[in-house]
Amino acid sequence: MSQLYNNQPLLDQLATAIDREKLHHANLISSGPGEEGLVVGLALATRILCDTQKHCGTCKSCKQASTLQHPDLHFSFPFVSGRASGTADDFLPDFRIALGKNKHLDPDGWQQNITSKNQQLQIPVKEIQNIHKKLSLTAASGKNRVLLLWLPEQIKTQASNKLLKLVEEPLPKTYIILVTHQKARLLPTIVSRCAPWRCKPLEERHFLTHFKDQPETTARLLAMVFAPNLGAAISASEDLESTQIDVFARWMRVCFKGEPTEISDVVSSLSGLTKETLKTLIFRSQHFLERGFYHGVQNTPVQASDLGAINVQKLSSAVRPAGAMAIYRVLSACLYDLERNIHVKTALTFASFKLHKAFRGN
Ligand SMILES: [Zn+2]
Repeated sequence: MSQLYNNQPLLDQLATAIDREKLHHANLISSGPGEEGLVVGLALATRILCDTQKHCGTCKSCKQASTLQHPDLHFSFPFVSGRASGTADDFLPDFRIALGKNKHLDPDGWQQNITSKNQQLQIPVKEIQNIHKKLSLTAASGKNRVLLLWLPEQIKTQASNKLLKLVEEPLPKTYIILVTHQKARLLPTIVSRCAPWRCKPLEERHFLTHFKDQPETTARLLAMVFAPNLGAAISASEDLESTQIDVFARWMRVCFKGEPTEISDVVSSLSGLTKETLKTLIFRSQHFLERGFYHGVQNTPVQASDLGAINVQKLSSAVRPAGAMAIYRVLSACLYDLERNIHVKTALTFASFKLHKAFRGN
C-alpha cells in the first residue's frame, strides 16, 4: 500500500463514501503536480476494486491493482503522437514502469520517460473513443471497474465533449477518477458533474520523511529545490550523479573566490563531463539558484541552514538581486555557447570569470 504523507484523511473520507455506497460515479481529485493526486487516485481505485472493498492488500484484485495490471482498472493519460494505435495503450507499459518507480510521477517526469523531444503531451479524440469502447464492454471480473484518467486538462477540446458524455451518463458499477493538476483548465461542465476532492499540498517535512534514507543534507536540498513537487525530487534523487550538485557547488565557490588556478582546476574537471551532463547540470543549477535567490529576496526563512554542499542562504544573501540576475544570465549564455559547440573549456573559463564579477555585483 502506498503511504500518504498529507492526505490520509482525504482517503479515509473516500473510503467511508465507498462503505456507505455513497461514492459518486465520477470523482475529480486535484493536487499540485508531483504531489498526492495520483497516489490518492490509485488508492481509491484499488479500494473500489478490492474483493473486500477494504484495500486489504492481500486479495487477488489488490495484488493486480498494485502492479497496475487489474483487468478492470483502465488507465488514460496524455502521450505524444507517433506510435501504432494513437491511443494511450501504446504507452501503457511505459506508464506502468514509470508509475511503478515513482508513484508521485509529475507531467514533466512522464514526458521525459516517453520522449526526448519537446513534444506536446495530449489526450486526443481517438483516446477518448478508445475509452468509450473499453467501457462499453462488460467488466472482466463481473464486479466494479474503474477508469483512472490522469491530466484531463490535456484533453483536446473536441475530445472534452466526449469525456463529458462519459461523466454525465453513469454506467453500472463503473467509477471514473480524474486526477488533475490544473482544475481551472477543465470544462466547467465536466467539473460540475464530478465530486470534487482537493489534496492538501506537501511540505518540506514530508520530503524529509520520504528521503529519510538519504543524508539529511541531500533531503533538505531536494526539498528546497523541488518542494512541493515530490515527484520531481524523486526523479532527481535517482539521478543525483548526473545532477552533480556537488560539482556545481564547488564551481560556484571557486568562482566566488575568483582564484585563477582554482578556476582552471574546476574547469578541467567540469569539461571531463559529457556535454549533455554538463548542460543538464547548468540547467538544473539555474533552477536551483533561482529558488535560492527567491528565498533570499523574499526574505523567507529557509530551514536548510547548512546544506553542506552549498549554503544557498549565505550565497544568495552575499549577492545583490542585480547580481543574481547577472549570474542567471551568465549561466544562460554558457548554455547557449555549449549548444553552439563553442570549445567547452573556453566557454566554462569565460563563464567562470563572468560569474566572479557577478558575485561581486559588477
Ligand atoms: Zn483486497
